[in-house]
Amino acid sequence: MTVDTLVVGAGFAGAVIAERLASAGREVLVIDRRDHLAGNAFDHPDSHGVLVHRYGPHLFHTNSDAVFEYLSRFTEWRPYEHRVLASLDGQLYPLPINQRTINQLYGLNLDEAGVERFLAGVREHRSPVLTSEDVVLNAVGRDLCDKFFRGYTRKQWGLELSELSSSVLARIPTRTNRDDRYFTDKRQAMPAEGYTRLFERLLAHPRIRVETGVDFATVRERIGAGLTVFTGRIDEYFGFRLGRLPYRSIRFEHQHLPGVEQFQPAATVNFPNDHDYTRITEFKQITGQRHTGTSIVKEFPTDEGDPYYPVPRSANQELYQRYRELAASETNVVFVGRLAQYRYYNMDQAAAAALKTAAEIVGG
Ligand code: FAD
Ligand code: UDP
Repeated sequence: MTVDTLVVGAGFAGAVIAERLASAGREVLVIDRRDHLAGNAFDHPDSHGVLVHRYGPHLFHTNSDAVFEYLSRFTEWRPYEHRVLASLDGQLYPLPINQRTINQLYGLNLDEAGVERFLAGVREHRSPVLTSEDVVLNAVGRDLCDKFFRGYTRKQWGLELSELSSSVLARIPTRTNRDDRYFTDKRQAMPAEGYTRLFERLLAHPRIRVETGVDFATVRERIGAGLTVFTGRIDEYFGFRLGRLPYRSIRFEHQHLPGVEQFQPAATVNFPNDHDYTRITEFKQITGQRHTGTSIVKEFPTDEGDPYYPVPRSANQELYQRYRELAASETNVVFVGRLAQYRYYNMDQAAAAALKTAAEIVGG
């Protein structure tokens, strides 16, 4: 069989590219080995009718007008700002660390200037800032690091803060004001009818055909494609010939609580130091859905299972670069997305990478 364009993966990277290329006149076949669209952003009503995210909570946030406007063609939005509480010794504290966190934790009543002085007193100057430990110690010092970040990171990655690139903990800001939102991006919203509906609309183009439950490995010899867009693991594409790129996985434990209207005081509660799971998320608080019961998910990080998180550390980046070199010599194949670029992309970044790649393909 011959196709004009084959897109492997129906997540943000694959679906956005497929839509752009179909709109530019190409015939596109999208395959995904899973039995559904939307990649890790997949959501669906659980057996009790509560809309849940199968692969953990997905909060949409972006500073890119281009990405937001593009996706707005395929969905309405429900404004939503995410808030997280961290559970320490049975008490709940706002995260990221901000004025309220510090006052509550240490029994203080500091204003913004007071918190700045406080942090100046406890932070450990690190130079250069190379690892995630450097980032945290530089920002908040040892006590706050040990309380909020060291244990959580050990659980999430199976690594020490000092073994991870600075980029991981650079995701979490420190604030001296009282802003307790998890993100400060100018656009923060949830797709009004969910992510899967957004993907159905993205892929509804008459020149796109979608086949789920199809693995690239089983069709790669049979399908001749003018262009292949690959959004799966780059190391898998090359048969792991240079060795395996490490990924962190998660076991998601979903649970429905009948008759419980609200389970916890915030959409997400993090457990830096207790339990084997990192966090509990309550979906209704994110989607705004009304239901007499509630559905939650606990996340248990593990090395086994689907590849969810590329592991940002320099040795892995070096191995990825060697795969990049192999990729550069592949003709008529492009690699885009969190797995194919081995980057800790958020959804908007995966979409932005796909828009950029599509523009390059169409333009030249
Ligand atoms: P994916 O969504 O992984 O899609 C790749 C697809 O390719 C998959 O469906 C896979 O089945 C398919 N595939 C792979 N190999 C093959 C093959 N050989 N043959 C056929 N199909 C194949 N981002 C945010 O912006 N906000 C959040 O709150 C957020 N929370 C997250 C929470 C968790 C627990 C996780 C794991 C991620 C979270 N993300 C979040 C990140 C978000 O999931 C990614 O940015 C996004 O899914 C990347 O899209 P993608 O298309 O690159 O990859
Ligand atoms: N992190 C932490 N404590 C927390 C929350 C996050 O130590 O309570 C660290 C941890 O290493 C995590 C990283 O910060 O992997 C990035 O957090 P984020 O919430 O962005 O992770 P994601 O939502 O992508 O899992």
